[in-house]
Amino acid sequence: MNYNPSIFRRSSTCHLYGPVPVNAGNAQVKKSGPGEAERFALTALNHFERHKLPPFFSQPGKLADMLASGDYACAVATTENNDQAGGIVWRCNGLKTAECYGPYMFTRESDHHLDGRLLEFCLKDVARSPALNLINRYRGAGLPQSFFDELGSYSEYKKTKGNSGNSGSSVQVVFFRQMREDPGATVWTSPQLDDFLLQEYRRLVLPREVEFVQEKNRPEPAEHSVLTADLNREENAATIRLFWPGKDLVQNVADHIRLFEAENWVNLSAQVDLGLADQAGFAEALLKNGFMPRLILPHGGQGDVVVFRRPPKLNDLVPEFVKSFEPYIPSRPVDVLKKQYHYQTLYHLNNNENALGPPLAAQKVLKEFNPFKAAFYPSGDSYHLRRKLADCYHLHPDQFIVGNGANESITLLIKSFCEMGDNIITADKTYGGYEWVARFSGITPRLTPLKKLGFDPEAIIEQIDSRTKIVFLCNPNNPTGTYWSRKVLTDFMEKINGRCMVVLDEAYIEFVDKADFPDGMSLITTYPNLVVLRTFSKMYGLAGLRIGYLAADNDVTNIIHRTAVVYSVNALAQEAALAALDDRDHIMRTREMVAAGKDFLNREIQALGLKCSSGEGNYFNVKLPFSDSLAYRRMMQQGVMVRMMTPFRFPNSIRITIAKEDAMQACVAALAQTLKEH
Ligand SMILES: *Cc1c(COP(=O)(O)O)cnc(C)c1O
Repeated sequence: MNYNPSIFRRSSTCHLYGPVPVNAGNAQVKKSGPGEAERFALTALNHFERHKLPPFFSQPGKLADMLASGDYACAVATTENNDQAGGIVWRCNGLKTAECYGPYMFTRESDHHLDGRLLEFCLKDVARSPALNLINRYRGAGLPQSFFDELGSYSEYKKTKGNSGNSGSSVQVVFFRQMREDPGATVWTSPQLDDFLLQEYRRLVLPREVEFVQEKNRPEPAEHSVLTADLNREENAATIRLFWPGKDLVQNVADHIRLFEAENWVNLSAQVDLGLADQAGFAEALLKNGFMPRLILPHGGQGDVVVFRRPPKLNDLVPEFVKSFEPYIPSRPVDVLKKQYHYQTLYHLNNNENALGPPLAAQKVLKEFNPFKAAFYPSGDSYHLRRKLADCYHLHPDQFIVGNGANESITLLIKSFCEMGDNIITADKTYGGYEWVARFSGITPRLTPLKKLGFDPEAIIEQIDSRTKIVFLCNPNNPTGTYWSRKVLTDFMEKINGRCMVVLDEAYIEFVDKADFPDGMSLITTYPNLVVLRTFSKMYGLAGLRIGYLAADNDVTNIIHRTAVVYSVNALAQEAALAALDDRDHIMRTREMVAAGKDFLNREIQALGLKCSSGEGNYFNVKLPFSDSLAYRRMMQQGVMVRMMTPFRFPNSIRITIAKEDAMQACVAALAQTLKEH
């Protein structure tokens, strides 16, 4: 770069570009020519910190050239006195992803919503281009929320002064807006990136087929790889890209890191283009060198581009298994979704919650809860609830550990029994919690394929070795609804013969009405290595309060207790759960609703010509002739939220929670409409 920084130094006392403009409310938003844009960039340099501005603003003359060439455009809000009240720059030179810089407002009068008008101006222009998306990395104060989705964020470090190691940081947030429906695409990558991509594509609801580039299918690489680097001196930022793959790629990346770190480039990024199959090896080399995938720029290159970052200091402190694990991203709150999808009412059919709500007795407890109790710690071991459970199941209270949802029980079990090098076994297509907790704890999950959509006892037993600590079974299985009969389960327990713990997740047992269905509680006395999980989230309608429990042999709970954090179960949840347990009527009414809903869905969905399946439990699976994320998006627009099944390893399928009649009708109507649009 060849600009002279002293010329454009930011100064709070500089009056050259005028004080805050008045009468901004009457400002006109117009596309500006190069001269006007140059003035705008200079004013922005005066008003904003450098990291909020794109690097090219430092050379306003260059911006003018870029405008003249037609690759970039600029709109400025000008007052009657010819003062600039703000502006925005964007780039949409025929690329699939356009980018806007700003809006930058030079007035404090936010009630004029000039920022929104500037953005709308930019959006209209971008909408006429072939761009599918608009991204925003640089902006002034903030973005009007309703315009954009957050793509992701990462820390940006300031340069260290001396060697103290204290470099401040700020959060860089990248925003994104779809300009039109994404047509879908295939992306090419290595298996190590699979989790990240699945999570992000689910969160962004982008239809993508993720294909792995097999080692054997890769062309014989050259001896030496070539990397390029974009440098941004002001931000101490270096971005590495792959120019040419080669056998020394891992070493080459390591050499680059060493070089950049020696010169104090604290913000190291790398970009991998998923549209180019030969970049798969690059992603692997980056991961091996402490880079982590942070966000996806949809259609940012030949295909989607994954941005990797390498946190400078943190890197050495974090275990590999944590670095390689992708955090679970839950769906957004209703108010946020409503803005995004413009529905009137929303039916939540994605989490297997009970549409009838909690049992009446629990509702009463919730209504009458004394707020002052919130000031005191709850019973640390759910004293009353455990007594009640012991009564119900003819066990001792010490055989129960109540947790913050069944999810906490899963964590407790893995903490109690597993150490580095151990493994757990479960199915490949089941509730994800077992696999996730194992992985972020550094324990290997072994996944056995389902057989006829059910857990396969032989396959599991084959996988057991001396380091197997726990087998996780989901009975009935979420999402397939299949189950093991009492006979299959007891045969399995005999064959295991105490070699490892067997966890029986009975999250949906209250929905099952089958004579041969086993009740895990009744088997605990026979099999001291059996642990039963139950939850109040599904049948009992208390998902929002987070309460579940495990039951096991007394020696087993004694062990697990050691790993439990006291007070993880709140007072309100304990009281509501206690009241909920008694209500048989609630269970019957819910089962009736589920049975009626299943009949209805079976009939209507087959009439749509789609394959569907269900079993036990309050959920229902539908196989689609197209991407589940496309279906999700379209159904959301009609106020129906279902579960995309790609993360469950069932591509192009959705899972529907069975709810009341109105919801089921809305769901079928939304699905029918989605099919028609397809
Ligand atoms: C919902 C669910 C859980 C989690 O239950 P919480 O008590 O809400 O943590 C556990 N296992 C299965 C199979 C589930 O479907």
